[in-house]
Amino acid sequence: MKTALPNSTDAVHAGVLRQRPSHTLAPAIAQTATYTFANTADLERYFAGGDADPERQEYGRYGNPTVREVEQRIAALDRAEDALLFASGMAAVTTTAFALLKAGDHVILFRDVYRRTRQFVINVLSRLGVEHTLIDPGAFDQLEAAIRPRTRFALSESPTNPYLHCIDLSRFAEICKKARVKTVVDATFATPFNSDPIGRGIDLVVHSASKYLSGHNDVLGGAVSGSSALISLIRDMRSVLGSIMDPHAAALIGRGMKTLALRVERQNATGLAVARALEAHPAVERVFYPGLPSHPDHKVAAEQMRGFGGVVSFTVRGGREAASRVVDGTRIAAIAPSFGGVETLIEQPCIMSFHELSDEQLAAIGISPALIRLSVGIEETEDVVRDVLGALDALGGA
Ligand code: PLP
Repeated sequence: MKTALPNSTDAVHAGVLRQRPSHTLAPAIAQTATYTFANTADLERYFAGGDADPERQEYGRYGNPTVREVEQRIAALDRAEDALLFASGMAAVTTTAFALLKAGDHVILFRDVYRRTRQFVINVLSRLGVEHTLIDPGAFDQLEAAIRPRTRFALSESPTNPYLHCIDLSRFAEICKKARVKTVVDATFATPFNSDPIGRGIDLVVHSASKYLSGHNDVLGGAVSGSSALISLIRDMRSVLGSIMDPHAAALIGRGMKTLALRVERQNATGLAVARALEAHPAVERVFYPGLPSHPDHKVAAEQMRGFGGVVSFTVRGGREAASRVVDGTRIAAIAPSFGGVETLIEQPCIMSFHELSDEQLAAIGISPALIRLSVGIEETEDVVRDVLGALDALGGA
């Protein structure tokens, strides 16, 4: 099964045109808002579906050749029939939801999805007459119980943020298929290199391309992969909402994707090394990393993932203040949100992602003030391990 996952040759070549119209090796950036037609007959032929170029576009909000090539490469890596790119990961999530839903429908959400996705469903979709049920990560009994006649899709991430829960993708797909409910998996943390939701029966895969796909912390983007029929529906909605990616962003993401396999391979190795080192450190209370046997979803993750990614979450002894000192004590890691890029980043979720919540609200959603999230980059593994352990050692001596 795991051999079906794409490798470095795929990351460089899959879906890439062998010959471009202008014979450039790297894609030209089609910086254009609109497209021209030779004459009225040409235009009429295009609208009748008779143009020789099936990828030809009429206007920039509907498509762009630079964007399209990267979409085809993402579809190839995800082993999907087709894919689309968006201005951000959230644009991918929201456009997909708008394409699939109408008033009176119902969606199921695993509770620990990205908080903006959760906010969108709870605060925005509910205003438009779409109901929702939140269920616990991987709780398939709750999933089965939550399904209603008007349930249109169930959405999960795998792994999730910040505790890196991994759900059994085949089981998720199987339960929902039986009930004719579409499955959407946000695989941003996994990347196409580490897991293959489509191969396991999932209908739609979402990525925040701002993370590992682009890999350099310098561009925002989102992607959705799936069947031609579903992607066509979502493309129509993207044309209405105007959430398409800019061609320069697509070129950056396409360039970043060439090294996806190399980067993620290093991040998998460093993530595991850091997680093991943290688990052995006396100042650490608990480590959350699906590659460790101590993680509740280790078995599922080991069965369906090639590697466990570059994000490691952990709590330190001494609470909020001690965690802040560890964050401040690192020298390589930059204090910043996001993950998946070449630079190691560190954050304390109670101060960064969940800064506006009180201690009681944090407790209600299970975020410990002593929690730290580390996203390893592609620096030398020993340097990253030494950096974090150094900050932890300083804690003990203070
Ligand atoms: N999905 C996940 C799992 C994320 O972590 C994020 C952002 O952090 C998003 C989606 C949203 O992506 P973007 O920031 O590109 O809009």
